[in-house]
Amino acid sequence: MFGSFILHLQKSEPASIPNQCFKEWSKKLLARWITQISAKVGRLSVDRKDFKCQRCGRCCKELQGSLYLTENEVKGWKKHVVKSNYGKFSAISFADILPTGTADLFFHPIEERELFRCPFLRKLPGEDKYKCLVQRIKPQICQDFPFTENGEVRNDEEARMCPEVRRLYNDQDCEDKIQS
Ligand code: SF4
Ligand code: SF4
Repeated sequence: MFGSFILHLQKSEPASIPNQCFKEWSKKLLARWITQISAKVGRLSVDRKDFKCQRCGRCCKELQGSLYLTENEVKGWKKHVVKSNYGKFSAISFADILPTGTADLFFHPIEERELFRCPFLRKLPGEDKYKCLVQRIKPQICQDFPFTENGEVRNDEEARMCPEVRRLYNDQDCEDKIQS
């Protein structure tokens, strides 16, 4: 619908506007409409490289408890020694391997107890930002957030914990809800 409308605009462009400028303008207008309408009716398609993670660490804190390793990730984690907030250990020592071959996260590498904060979430000194100490091998579930498998930005309550998701969906009411 929008494509044909833009085509119509392009055909009826005013003679005073240079062709190239008009094409650029109509492309931008179309992109803005699609973004605004998608935000209202469903999910946004955003290129991952254009997603501006603010490194607030909120997803790492909030998703704790639902994180796991797939069977393949378990195999990979067995091969890596990693830095953590508890020192240097085999990555797999932070996981509880289940009979299915997958693993629950996170556990203390020595003591037999569950951890309530990811051991790889490190606060940057003097900044309200965080980094992941296992960036190269972080679980797929961490890599995916807040995208769906179709490459769209999730538009659900859990995803809206993320300030960048809220910014994209322009939903300030949610900010108040999360902060309360
Ligand atoms: S593994 Fe990395 S991305 Fe995943 S919760 Fe921990 S710090 Fe965050
Ligand atoms: S909550 Fe969003 S902005 Fe914050 S670290 Fe996670 S993905 Fe990045």
